[in-house]
Amino acid sequence: MIRTPEKLYAIIGHPLGHTMSPALHNSGFNMFSLPAVYMAFPTPPEKLADFMNAFRTLPIHGASVTIPHKETVMQYVDRITPRAAKVGAVNTLFWDNETLVGDNTDVLGFLAPLTQDDCTFRHALILGAGGAAKAVLAGLHELNVQQVTICNRTAERAQHLAEQFAVEFVDWEKRGTVEADLVINTTPMGMSGEHVEKTPYPPEMFRNEGIAYDLVYNPLKTTFLRDAEKAGWNTIDGLHMFAAQGAEQFRLWTEKDIPLEHIRTLISTTLGL
Ligand code: NAP
Repeated sequence: MIRTPEKLYAIIGHPLGHTMSPALHNSGFNMFSLPAVYMAFPTPPEKLADFMNAFRTLPIHGASVTIPHKETVMQYVDRITPRAAKVGAVNTLFWDNETLVGDNTDVLGFLAPLTQDDCTFRHALILGAGGAAKAVLAGLHELNVQQVTICNRTAERAQHLAEQFAVEFVDWEKRGTVEADLVINTTPMGMSGEHVEKTPYPPEMFRNEGIAYDLVYNPLKTTFLRDAEKAGWNTIDGLHMFAAQGAEQFRLWTEKDIPLEHIRTLISTTLGL
């Protein structure tokens, strides 16, 4: 049956590259037989204002927002959710009646695999201090982790976030001295392409026991996660976060839940993981 779409959803970013979000959301529209379509709109920074004008005039019912617009888009919305305010970045636009709202579903996405088993952590170590690290910091705050330490190749960025989120800072070279039971990679090291065999955390740094959480999801088993497993640590790959942040966007737009396992299978199959 040919269904004529009535509602448009979008992802904006620049460059957009090969985003998995259209596959995720269009699969959800199919699953629930919704007359909607989700499209990628590569939007350079100088076109963001035009896009946001279009958002308020065309039948655009929601959007995902990615680099480099996550901060700059905030000036174009009517309301920011407390989570997006805490992170200082928006990755989702949705309508609450006539009010255009900016939210950040990366926080819930990050938390999803950690809240399933009622985990508690003594000390979390965050590797990297870019945009994703801010969502992780906000998530760890919600999780009430006793102690959080951040480090980054460029120390100033980590120092800045440490002050903003009231957590500890350690030099990148000293990260192996932190006795953490949750280590989170928010750098692109390990990602397919130029970084694929790299790790932000040499194997000898895994001591005692804990959970290694990689935000990278292509490949699913990065060097960081393989080293963690060899050291007897539990691991969480980045597809858990990607699936959960996307599912939350879909719920905000349609009030429907795409099963996380469906998204995992869809993305793994599409990427050949
Ligand atoms: P970003 O804002 O560009 O930040 C990248 C961070 O990685 C910076 O702290 C940077 O350090 C560090 N870094 C980059 N190359 C490095 C290297 N060779 N050695 C050590 N540190 C390095 O990027 P982002 O938006 O935070 O994203 C980071 C990663 O998370 C990406 O791989 C992205 O795909 C992934 N991510 C996944 C999800 C998910 O749902 N699973 C969601 C968001 C992001 P400097 O400050 O020194 O440059």
